[in-house]
Amino acid sequence: KEARRKHIRLHMEGTLTARDKVGVQDFVLLDAYTSESAFVDNLRKRFSENLIYTYIGTLLVSVNPYQELGIYTVSQMELYQGVNFFELPPHVYAIADNAYRMMCSELNNHFIFISGESGAGKTEASKKILQYFAVTCPMTESLQIARDRLLLSNPVLEAFGNAKTLRNDNSSRFGKYMDIQFDFQGVPVGGHIISYLIEKSRVVYQNHGERNFHIFYQLLAGGDAERLSSLGLEQDPQLYKYLSQGHCAKESSINDKNDWKTVSNAFSVIDFTRADLENLFGIIASVLHLGNICFTEDKQGGATVPDTHEIKWIAKLLGVCPSVLLEALTHRKIEAKTEEVICPLTVELSVYSRDAMAKAVYGRTFTWLVSKINSSLVNKDITQKTVIGLLDIYGFEVFDKNGFEQFCINYCNEKLQQLLIERTLKAEQAEYEVEGIEDEECIRPGPATDLSFLEKLEEKVGRHAHFQTRKLAGAKGRKRIGWLEFRLLHYAGEVTYCTKVLCRSKNSILRECFLVAELENRRRQPTVGTQFKNSLSSLLEILISKEPSYIRCIKPNESKEPSKFDDFLIRHQIKYLGLMEHLRVRRAGFAYRRKYEHFLQRYKSLCPDTWPHWHGPPGEGVKCLIKYIGYKPEEYKLGKTKIFIRFPRTLFATEDAFEF
Ligand code: ATP
Ligand code: MG
Repeated sequence: KEARRKHIRLHMEGTLTARDKVGVQDFVLLDAYTSESAFVDNLRKRFSENLIYTYIGTLLVSVNPYQELGIYTVSQMELYQGVNFFELPPHVYAIADNAYRMMCSELNNHFIFISGESGAGKTEASKKILQYFAVTCPMTESLQIARDRLLLSNPVLEAFGNAKTLRNDNSSRFGKYMDIQFDFQGVPVGGHIISYLIEKSRVVYQNHGERNFHIFYQLLAGGDAERLSSLGLEQDPQLYKYLSQGHCAKESSINDKNDWKTVSNAFSVIDFTRADLENLFGIIASVLHLGNICFTEDKQGGATVPDTHEIKWIAKLLGVCPSVLLEALTHRKIEAKTEEVICPLTVELSVYSRDAMAKAVYGRTFTWLVSKINSSLVNKDITQKTVIGLLDIYGFEVFDKNGFEQFCINYCNEKLQQLLIERTLKAEQAEYEVEGIEDEECIRPGPATDLSFLEKLEEKVGRHAHFQTRKLAGAKGRKRIGWLEFRLLHYAGEVTYCTKVLCRSKNSILRECFLVAELENRRRQPTVGTQFKNSLSSLLEILISKEPSYIRCIKPNESKEPSKFDDFLIRHQIKYLGLMEHLRVRRAGFAYRRKYEHFLQRYKSLCPDTWPHWHGPPGEGVKCLIKYIGYKPEEYKLGKTKIFIRFPRTLFATEDAFEF
C-alpha cells in the first residue's frame, strides 16, 4: 500500500511539474471562458505525450492513439482500484472503478455511455472496461464460467456484427447495450445484451473498399475442408458476389483464419451445441449461395434461374423444397378476396426479392444469436443484483449516399446527446441543492431540441415520394417533442412469399426466426422505423433509471495513423460531441469541487493547524486550512460535505504552494 501511495504521489508530482508541457488533466482547470482553440491545444499537448485521456469533471475524453500504449496491464488495473477519481491520471479504468465503487456502496445501477464517431475507439473502450471488471472484481470459482462467457460474447458478436469499412477495419454495424450484473458482494454473476439495428444492407452490398460481416470471411479462411464441402463452399471469397463487391475480400490488417479460431473457441464456452453450429453455418453458407443465384429473362419477361446449383444447396442447407424456393424467388403472391394469384416477377424484382431474403435471414439470425448468448449469460440463482450497463452506440455517420439505416443511427445519436446534456445539467443543479449552495450564475445552454435532425431530414428528403415524416401529437393534444415518426415506404409484398417458405424450414434456427404467426399478422407489423423508435424509447427508459458516466471518444485522423493529430477533424468532433457545451455546464458555477475529507487529506500539510492530523470535523479543518492559505470569499463556497472552488487558478495556486 505504501509503495502504491508513493507511486501515486510521484505520478502526481510529475503531472504537476510538467503541467505546461502536458496540458491539464481536467479541462475545467483551463482558464475560465476557454476557447475552442485552448481546448484543442490542451488535447494536442497531451496527445503528443501519449496521454490520450483527459477529464471534463467526471466525463472522460479519449483520443484514439492507433497504437498499443502499454497502459492496460494488470498492474495498471490494480493501481486504479479504489483510488479517488482525481488522484491518478485520467483513465478508462478510473471511470469503470468509480461506477463500480458507487454501485457497491450505494447499491444502485449505473451505465457508462460511450460515444464518438466510427473508428474513435468506443468498442475498444468498452472491452477495456469489461476486462477491468473481469480482472479486478472479486470472483468465486463457480462464477468463472459466467465471467468467461461475458468476455467471449464479444468475439462472437463482433464476428457477426462487425465489418471492415472505410473508416474502421473493425467497425460495429449494430448498436450494443450490455448489462453486467453483480451480486451484493460485487461479484460479476451474469449479463444481458440488447442489440440495435444491425446494418442488414451490408449483407448484399458493400461500398468500394469495404467488406461484408467478418464471419463470412472467417468461415472460408478458417473452416476445415470437410466443413466447407458439407456447406458447398470454396475457400476463395472472390467467388461470392456478396463478398467481392468491395474489392477487398483479403485485408492485410485482418487475420480471418486466427479470428475463426477465437470465435470457434468462444462458441464452445458459450454453450452452443453442435446442432446449433451446424444450423448457424448452414444459414451463413446459404446467404453466400443466395448471392450467387443468377436470373435471366424468359420469353414472357419473367425471371428464371438457368443454373439451379445454388438453389439446390440452399434447399439442402435450410431444409426447404427446391422448387418451392425457386418459385418464391421468381414469383409474387397476390392475395385477392378469395383466391391467391401467383404472378411472375421480372429479373429486377427477383434480384430484389433474393436480396431481401438474404437480409431478412441474416438480420434475424443475428437477433437469434444475441438471444442465445443471453440465455447463456442468465444467472437465475442470484436474486439481488445491481448492474453496470455499457452502451456502445454507433456514431454519427454521413456518407455520400445515406440510407435509411444512417437516418436511424443519426436520430438515435441526437436523442442520446440530448439526454447527456439534460442529465449533466440536472446533476449539477441537484448537487448544488444537496450541498445547500445557491448559484446565481449558472449558465444554461440553449435547449437541445430533437426536432433538429428530423427537420434537416425533412428538408433533404421530405419531398421524396418514398419518404414520410410526421410529428405525432401527444396525449390530450399536447405536442410531445421527441415522439416523432418517420417511415420509409417501400415496395411491399416482396418478402411475404419468402417468409412463407422460411417458416417451413427444417433448420431450427430459421423456424425460430420466422414464425407462421407473423404471416397471419402481417398487416399489423410495425414498420422498421417504428420498431427502431420503440426500441430507442425503451433504451432511454433503461438509461434514465441509472446513474450515468460518460466516455467521449475522438478520432485523431482519417488515416488510422499513430501520433497524427488532425486539428480540423478534431474540432469538428469537439463541436458535435458537445464538449464545449459540457465544459460550460460543468463549471458554470464552480470549476471544482471536492469532499472535505479529500481536500483536507491532500492539502493539510500546507497549514500547521491541520498537519499532521486534524482532530475535528473535516469541514472545520478545511475552513481553518483555507483561512490560512488566504482564499478570498468570492473564490469558494462551502457546502454540506464539499468545498466548491470557483476559479481554476485558485486551485492551481494551492497546488503550486503544495509543491514547495
Ligand atoms: P465503430 O463505430 O466503427 O464501431 P469504434 O468507435 O467502435 O468504431 P474501435 O473499433 O473501438 O472504434 O476502434 C478502432 C480501432 O482503433 C481499433 O481496432 C484499434 O486498432 C484502434 N484503437 C481504438 N482504441 C484504442 C486504444 N485505446 N488503444 C490502441 N488502439 C486503439
Ligand atoms: Mg465499434
